[in-house]
Amino acid sequence: MTTRTIMHLDMDAFFASVELLRRPELVGQPVVVGGRGDPNRRGVVSTATYEARQYGIHSAMPLRRALALCPHAVFLPVDLAAYRAASEQVFARLRELSPRLEPVGLDEAYLDISHRDEPPRALGAQVKQAIREATGLTGSVGLAPNRLLAKIASDLEKPDGLTELTVDDVPHRVWPLPVRTLHGVGPRTGERLSGLGITTIGELAQTPVERLATVFSPGHARDLHERAHGQDDRPVAPRRRRKSIGRETTFQTDCRSSARLAHLAEEMLEGLLPRLTERGLRARTVTVKVRYRDFVTHTRSRSLPTPTDDRDALAAAADACLREHRLHRAVRLLGVTLSQLSDAPAEGQQLSFV
Ligand SMILES: [Mg+2]
Repeated sequence: MTTRTIMHLDMDAFFASVELLRRPELVGQPVVVGGRGDPNRRGVVSTATYEARQYGIHSAMPLRRALALCPHAVFLPVDLAAYRAASEQVFARLRELSPRLEPVGLDEAYLDISHRDEPPRALGAQVKQAIREATGLTGSVGLAPNRLLAKIASDLEKPDGLTELTVDDVPHRVWPLPVRTLHGVGPRTGERLSGLGITTIGELAQTPVERLATVFSPGHARDLHERAHGQDDRPVAPRRRRKSIGRETTFQTDCRSSARLAHLAEEMLEGLLPRLTERGLRARTVTVKVRYRDFVTHTRSRSLPTPTDDRDALAAAADACLREHRLHRAVRLLGVTLSQLSDAPAEGQQLSFV
C-alpha cells in the first residue's frame, strides 16, 4: 500500500467570485452567474454566491427558478474568458507546488504532494496565500492520504477552508455526512442505498458487503464499502481529454412532430452547454441521432469552422442536422452530442458551416 499525500483545491464560488472582483459593489449580495445573465431567458445557474445559496439557489438550476427563489438577486452573464484567465493564474501557482496535477474543470484540481518534505498544512496555507496574492480569490484546500478524503476535506470548511483528514478521522468527521457526499454516489446509487435504509456514510460503512451485493454488483458493493471506510487507491494523473459530451432520450410514445423534435433537440443542447463550459471546453462538431420506430438509426453531423461554446451557433448546427432527418416518420429516440472538443481559445468565431 502506497503512502500518499493528496491535496484537493476547490475555488470558492469561482465564476461569481471573479465577477465580484470587478464589481466590488456587489460583495455581500446574492449574485447569480448563468447563461446570458437574463433570468427571463433560457439558461441555468453556473455559480451562485454564498448569499444566493441561502435562498436555495444552486448550480444547474434554471435561471427562472433562481429568480423565483430570490427576486432581488443580481444576475450576470457567463464570461468564460475572464474565468479562464483567473484559472490560469490558479493553476500556475499549483504547478509550482507539484507537477503531478489533475485539473477538474477550471476551478478544481487534485495534486499529489507526497514528494514534498514540508508539512502538508504548511503547503496548503502557502498555496492559498499565493493564489490570493495572484488573483484576489479564495479557495478551499483539503489534505488527505487519498483523493476521496481530500475532496471531502476541501468541502468541510468552505469557503476559505484548510482541512486535513486522516483515515483515523473518518468515523467522527466523515461518517455523519450524507452518503451522497461520497465521490461516485450519484442520484441512482443514492436511491438504492436509501432503499436499504442507508442515508449516511457511517450507515454504509456498517452495512456488510453481502447486504450491499443484494442490490449492487459484487464489485460495486465492495467499492462502496471501501469508500465508506475512507479507502481509495486511485492515483492522481493528468486527466484524459474527454472526446464528447452527449445526451439521448427515448420517448414514452413515438414522436411524430418535427416541431417537438426541434424543441427537444434545442433543450438537450441547452443541457449540454453547462457541462461544456464548466470544463472550459468548446465544441466543433454537433451530431444529432434519430432512431425510428423500426429501430433504424441515423446520425447527422455538422462541423463549425472553429470550436465554439456559442449557444446560437451550436443550436443552428443541431437544427441543420435535424432537418436532414426524415422526421415525418415515427421517432423513438433522439440524441445530441458535442464532439471535437478543445480548450483552445476561439479567435474570430464564424457562424457559417463548412
Ligand atoms: Mg468550486
